[in-house]
Amino acid sequence: MNNISEIGDIRERLLDRKNHLMNLAQKFISTAEILRLIEEIDSALKRMTNGTYGLCEVCGDPIEPDRLKADPLLKVCLDDFSAEQQKNLENELSLAVKVQQNLLPTENISLPGWDIDYHYEPASIVSGDYCDLIIPDERSENQYVIVGDVTGKGVAASMLMTHLHAMFHTLVPFNLKLSELMERINRVLCESTADDLFATLVLARAHKDGTIEISNAGHCLPILITESGAIEPGSNGVPLGILCQATYESTSFKMHRGDVLILYTDGLTEAMNGDDCFELSRILQYQHEFRDMSPREIIETINAELSAFLDGSVKSDDLTLMVLKKL
Ligand SMILES: [Zn+2]
Repeated sequence: MNNISEIGDIRERLLDRKNHLMNLAQKFISTAEILRLIEEIDSALKRMTNGTYGLCEVCGDPIEPDRLKADPLLKVCLDDFSAEQQKNLENELSLAVKVQQNLLPTENISLPGWDIDYHYEPASIVSGDYCDLIIPDERSENQYVIVGDVTGKGVAASMLMTHLHAMFHTLVPFNLKLSELMERINRVLCESTADDLFATLVLARAHKDGTIEISNAGHCLPILITESGAIEPGSNGVPLGILCQATYESTSFKMHRGDVLILYTDGLTEAMNGDDCFELSRILQYQHEFRDMSPREIIETINAELSAFLDGSVKSDDLTLMVLKKL
């Protein structure tokens, strides 16, 4: 962290906290913990003055900026965590993985007339992608399919993903217009998240008769494959969480027997091998075959094509694929 204005912000935050703690120290008798925290803050302020703030006190390398933003008192980089700290971190992460896995849609829950499957693959331990399938209630004639991508990766992104999950599950049963649903979620997200966290997302409502309504907040356009070829339906809006006043549109179209809708995150289209980027034409070459395949087979074909393209290069971003087929 060598950005002067960011350090200035953190210094202000630390001075605020110190004042707050000093007020507390005057009120309470047991002040040992408060005094220890004040000492930690003074030590951080001193490091800012002598220019060593944000550098690991073991190896001298910069501490990861995201971690420092979350905890301005950090003195050690991740690589130099003690065995006990490493273990605590691993425990926290495995808990985060469990929380996230529990939020994924259960398999084989789509409405009659539809076959749906998905592939969800974090780049690191937890994912910033959001993948969901919601059927509002037992009598419902429609189902909601959501694929999104939160800025950044790792735990902070996965927390925002869980936030999105909670909001959609709360609002979907109200059966709002899709544009209104997106606008409400956008407003809550704008009011409740940090400036630099936002999400792109595509929301689809699939009806029993094959009608699909779709609304898109800055996300990769889905691919619709019909008898007459492949198109990318829908228009695009502003990512969620950037502007409270943003409005969203929805479009609708009808899917017929054998038609396929593929939703995906940019872990697919931004996969890199050297300077080359994965191109959708690699998938679209199979469009006619896709009409005879199950969603699972389509996902396997896409993954095989992606692996062939990567040719051993490591995936650097979370990947989500969701495939809907009209039966
Ligand atoms: Zn270090």
